Amino acid sequence: MNRFSSRVRIAALACLVCAGFSVALPADAAARRKTYAVAYEVELRPQSGIAHVTMTLTGPELPSRLTFNIDPERHRNFSGNGDLERGPKSVAWSPPLDKGTLTFDFKVDNVLKGGTYDSRMTDAWAVFRGDRLIPPVRSLASTRLYAETTLHFTLPPGWSILTRYPDRGGHRYVIEDPARRFERPTGWMLAGKIGSRQAAVAGVSAIVATPANDAARRQETLAFLGWNLPHVTSLFPAFPKRLLIVRAGEPMFRGGLSGPASLFLHSARPLVTENRTSPLLHELVHVAMGIRGDATSDWIVEGLAEYYSIELLRRSGGISARRFREATALQGTRGQRAPDLFVGASTGAVTARAVSVMLAVDAEIKEATRGKASLDDVARDLAKRRGEVSLSLFQTLAAKAAGRPVRALERTTLINDR
Ligand SMILES: [Zn+2]
Repeated sequence: MNRFSSRVRIAALACLVCAGFSVALPADAAARRKTYAVAYEVELRPQSGIAHVTMTLTGPELPSRLTFNIDPERHRNFSGNGDLERGPKSVAWSPPLDKGTLTFDFKVDNVLKGGTYDSRMTDAWAVFRGDRLIPPVRSLASTRLYAETTLHFTLPPGWSILTRYPDRGGHRYVIEDPARRFERPTGWMLAGKIGSRQAAVAGVSAIVATPANDAARRQETLAFLGWNLPHVTSLFPAFPKRLLIVRAGEPMFRGGLSGPASLFLHSARPLVTENRTSPLLHELVHVAMGIRGDATSDWIVEGLAEYYSIELLRRSGGISARRFREATALQGTRGQRAPDLFVGASTGAVTARAVSVMLAVDAEIKEATRGKASLDDVARDLAKRRGEVSLSLFQTLAAKAAGRPVRALERTTLINDR
């Protein structure tokens, strides 16, 4: 939906990649697998604006080296036993053989251009992301070595915290991420004096949380999920079973930002705009798909999110078929102002133009298959793969759904059609 949402999401997904993916082990190797414990202890200190992190590794065998990809402005004061090497944007830690402790400070506040924040701690609340708190890390370890990871928060008096993970009691969480060898917490988090509403919708435990005095309408957000989320999960059956929606007002970023199994949406943003797009459905599609564009394909990511924010509203009865046509026609008009789809970050007119492409692709697949397939099949395929999407991958998956190449996705069509 906006420049920041793309950039932040890209960074988050990039972290997944650099954390390294595990591979299925043969049975004998699985039998020989060894475990060790990783405990993240995080103390929120509003008076100094930092989260103090203590990371403890224990076990008969530990990774020989962990290399953190840090943001030197925000990850500071590293200290630990074993060997520590500090680079300008990295910290490499070789823990002692059976027990290692590393501590550092994370500056919670992060100011964006225009003076708003995508991470913020006041004396009453804190909104931040787990995957910023603990920087991306590469581990050097035996392939049979597996981590059992926990996270625990120490909070100021009267504070509580919500994360994408269920609380196992006393702000303690188990982090399970089969895609990573070395797990770390991810997703949006809200701490402080907070108010929340929870409901089970379409098999998803959905929580809407805000700072206690925030004007965001939690119950309306939850009601909106009640009639729309079933359409999201039927389009994307692998949608996370637990979803955290954090809403907060000034001075937070005035838009939506998605993360793993969680999202942030500014309190003042409407659930449906006057243009009949839905900022909340847009971010839910990002959560469901978990894709990022290559250098020139952000329009695919943003176009799918924006197209489905209108289409899912139509499916749920939120808007009529006629209003759907009006809404997509409006996107077509706005899209004419975009000189080029192939930009680094898709915003405004580029995303609007991408919506028209999605509409054309959907129509073409339906026509080629006499309604047996649609853009849904392509979107579902992409959501299954996750990770990076390129024009050629999108063309391939669309051709697979249509049974022939899709004209609307030919590069010349994309360049010339306005
Ligand atoms: Zn977006």
